[in-house]
Amino acid sequence: MLKSDLLRQLPAVHEVVKDISSEVSGKPEKEVTRAVQDAIKLWRKNILNDHHAVDLKTDIRSLVKNSAKSNLVHPTHQIRSLINASGIVIHTNLGRSRLSEKSVERMSETARMYSNLEYNLEEGKRGSRHDLTEELIKQVTGAEAAMVVNNNAAAVYLILKALAKNKEVIVSRGELVEIGGSFRVSSIMEESGAKLREIGTTNKTHFFDYERAMNDETGMIMKVHTSNFKVIGFTKEVSSGELMKLKPDHPDVIIYEDLGSGALYPFQSLGIGEEPLISSVIAKGLDVVSFSGDKLLGGPQAGIIAGKKRIIDLLKKHQLARVLRVDKFTIAALNETLKSYRNEEYKDIPTVRDILKTPEEIRQSVWRLKRKVEDHSSLNIRILEEFSQVGGGTMPDVKLPTFCLGIKHRKGAEYLARTFRNHQIPIIVRIKDEEVLLDLRTISDEELLTIEDAIRSID
Ligand SMILES: *Cc1c(COP(=O)(O)O)cnc(C)c1O
Repeated sequence: MLKSDLLRQLPAVHEVVKDISSEVSGKPEKEVTRAVQDAIKLWRKNILNDHHAVDLKTDIRSLVKNSAKSNLVHPTHQIRSLINASGIVIHTNLGRSRLSEKSVERMSETARMYSNLEYNLEEGKRGSRHDLTEELIKQVTGAEAAMVVNNNAAAVYLILKALAKNKEVIVSRGELVEIGGSFRVSSIMEESGAKLREIGTTNKTHFFDYERAMNDETGMIMKVHTSNFKVIGFTKEVSSGELMKLKPDHPDVIIYEDLGSGALYPFQSLGIGEEPLISSVIAKGLDVVSFSGDKLLGGPQAGIIAGKKRIIDLLKKHQLARVLRVDKFTIAALNETLKSYRNEEYKDIPTVRDILKTPEEIRQSVWRLKRKVEDHSSLNIRILEEFSQVGGGTMPDVKLPTFCLGIKHRKGAEYLARTFRNHQIPIIVRIKDEEVLLDLRTISDEELLTIEDAIRSID
């Protein structure tokens, strides 16, 4: 059939609205109309693109009807909750960290009621939102002062702009990284007005490279944690601690480290990765460090800046601080997350808890799940040993031993993965060698029931 004939078969909006009206009663009329319009748009595009579902026998009207109904139940272009069975704990595409229950409660309470966001309750007058998190950050990092901005990219930008504009910033070539496709150290530096002074080579940068690059124009030495890749073999880098040796001769040059994720829990001492503890970096006496709130920390999206009081005061006063400031929900969630660290209640934080989960714990969940679904006649189900990842561009070389439920279906892994994605609560899986793998590292007991349900309902 010609495309033009198929296009002519597309129904009118009012026809489809009538077709589905009895099935979607209770939904606002406007919403139904919009869902139908979107469905017609979608099928017009599918016809033009020779979508495989469109052929001679196609009943276009019923395809549109089904799409419209599904649009009403699962709006694709709205934020939806889903289940992350990919085995990547901090999945940037899936919203990075889940928040602790305490953070969630504090956020919803802050939403429901007025708060002391910028109000000093003791004095009964205007206060500063910085005061609400600064003390906690100081307690968990040991820094003299601290502040919070929208994310770590914002923190880097503010630090460069406020402290190094029109000055030279020395960075090792091995640390000129790009993170997540849209954050480049060199571009953000250019944007800030600071002048990049590259030193060393991709694999080796020595102390003398830094020493030689110092001149009257030097405003800052910046260290960047190469979060999402690892240079192995013949390498040399200078730690920020060693760089402090330059301080006596150059007291005005600011030493800054962008820690990327920054750990408040000592994963390294448990043999998980080489992420330095934030407090140990601060203890070296650096002027300023910054790190993300929603990577390893397991809090809300935020950029945390900690360091010397003199430096933080300059940053707080800068106009950009107002542009990049966080809202009350971020403050509410971050405070609760930081309190869990301060009280050493690490397992309250889902990100920390999931990274620390033992293979044995996970194996037991997989085993229970397998027992409940293994009688499914069209699926081939087994348990296999695999590895989860930390994700979020942190610890790229760390493999966390885990167990997965492996599922095979005659229609293939892509089909199966799509079926899981189309479940009422979408389930994100990974595919390996034509098999769908469900990694249960990040799955709660409640989510396990949904997964069980989804597996049972596969044809
Ligand atoms: C992730 C990361 C950033 C960006 O942090 P966001 O919180 O995503 O804005 C900047 N620098 C480094 C080294 C990072 O790892």
